[in-house]
Amino acid sequence: MKFLNKVGDYAKEAVQAAKYIGQGLSVTFDHMRRRPITVQYPYEKLIPSERFRGRIHFEFDKCISCEVCVRVCPINLPVVDWEFNPQIKKKELKSYSIDFGVCIFCGNCVEYCPTNCLSMTEEYDLSTYDRHELNFDSVALGRLPTKVTEDPFVTPIRELAYLPKGVMDGHEVSHTERRAGQTPEEIIEANMN
Ligand code: SF4
Ligand code: SF4
Repeated sequence: MKFLNKVGDYAKEAVQAAKYIGQGLSVTFDHMRRRPITVQYPYEKLIPSERFRGRIHFEFDKCISCEVCVRVCPINLPVVDWEFNPQIKKKELKSYSIDFGVCIFCGNCVEYCPTNCLSMTEEYDLSTYDRHELNFDSVALGRLPTKVTEDPFVTPIRELAYLPKGVMDGHEVSHTERRAGQTPEEIIEANMN
């Protein structure tokens, strides 16, 4: 009788263990059919959405040194260095800089600049070993922005903006499902034309 009880307990435990293993494997198999959400940076990069607020681009020749960008900036960040030229009775811009180690990328300066000489690019690779290198002068700010879709060494990856309309969780989306925005291939093709 005692032996039979032991066999019964053993069988119950074996069934319980099999149940737990089954539960664990069901999670594993479920993940196998999901899209990976990790990005193999820097070989793969996310394509920023259309209104992404990245590194600011500045056009020196268009700036009238009005300092509106400084006044609307929550931390008065842009440094506008100008001199008054009495001959032409106008301010002359000497240098302009923004420290991206401090900037919060709110976009106020871009929005309020009266001559539209500031714009937000889709550049987000701003890491450096020395934070002082993030203080961009007018030359660095004037460099044309790079694009993820134009870099031959990078595989562009979709992000939230490219999921089907109304979907926020990329886990449940299959590769074949139609996206709301353009696919990376379509964006590359559009850029090349
Ligand atoms: S983006 Fe915002 S924080 Fe950065 S410089 Fe412009 S106004 Fe200032
Ligand atoms: S708001 Fe525009 S034009 Fe005025 S100082 Fe700033 S960047 Fe120059």
